[in-house]
Amino acid sequence: MEYGSPDFFGFAYAEDQKRLVSLLRESKKKNSKRKLCLMTAPSFVVDFDFVDFVPKMKGLGFDKVTELTFGAKIVNQHYHKHIKEHFSDYAMNGRSIDKKFQNKFISSVCPATVELVKNRHPELVKYLMPFVSPMSAMAKIVKKNFPNHKIIFLAPCSAKKFEAARLLDGKNKRIIDVAITFAEMKQIVAKENPKAKNGSRKFDSFYNDYTKVYPLSGGLSSTLHCKGILHKNDVIVRDGCTELEKLFSKTPERVFYDVLFCKGGCVGGPGIASRAPLFIRKQRVFKYRNFAKKEKMDGKQGVDKYTKGLDFSREF
Ligand code: SF4
Repeated sequence: MEYGSPDFFGFAYAEDQKRLVSLLRESKKKNSKRKLCLMTAPSFVVDFDFVDFVPKMKGLGFDKVTELTFGAKIVNQHYHKHIKEHFSDYAMNGRSIDKKFQNKFISSVCPATVELVKNRHPELVKYLMPFVSPMSAMAKIVKKNFPNHKIIFLAPCSAKKFEAARLLDGKNKRIIDVAITFAEMKQIVAKENPKAKNGSRKFDSFYNDYTKVYPLSGGLSSTLHCKGILHKNDVIVRDGCTELEKLFSKTPERVFYDVLFCKGGCVGGPGIASRAPLFIRKQRVFKYRNFAKKEKMDGKQGVDKYTKGLDFSREF
């Protein structure tokens, strides 16, 4: 039986699937006021056909379908500014003449990597980039722009479920209502068998973006535009928990650590149903990026308008 098929775990949905299916059924009722926004990680292309993804998800009951790439762009901008303002060659192990400077920065976009640093290498916590992940950034943006929608996140791993559960608004309420893995969504699609909805194949996103390579190992640093701030050799890219353990034990003299917990990056996430080898998964991401480059965004471009007043910082 194929992983991701409706019968793989028997016919019963798991808890998050049940919550999502109940929201979807509610949204499809006649005159329903329930509005749902699906927010997907760009690695969805490993498990889903990007050409009919949006119509299919709308047929399932989502009113809006967005992807994280705009959130990734915002994170990149904050990383760029932070490194520019805080990097100094002379900052030794975080003890510089001016505390504002440091000579190491560790990306914090992956919740499993953040936990690894916090639990096994607490001496490195001070180097974690003090900004939310693209998922959390995008959730804040979606909430601001579609305040009446419930937000559902489609993820390549369960680590994102824990991160989503901890993302709260000013009233201590969850911003992301349900987080669900690709494999779980594939089961729902197989079981509910939605008809693709007529209409645009485009995401209801805010920006068509180069950050579609984010789920690949090295995708972050390749889109950071840090030329003039960092030399090519200042960046180290690592993926897979064994490699990260080795890296964090030695902490070589590099400035920016672009690190992801899964082998190959998020395309190797445990919530992905596909068993295709990594090189095929990477090809799918590049094919999608190249396809998306040709799409126009109907003039809906701009950053400030959608993010004004939002705080993307965080502490560890
Ligand atoms: S690298 Fe793995 S654990 Fe980290 S966010 Fe991506 S899929 Fe999740």
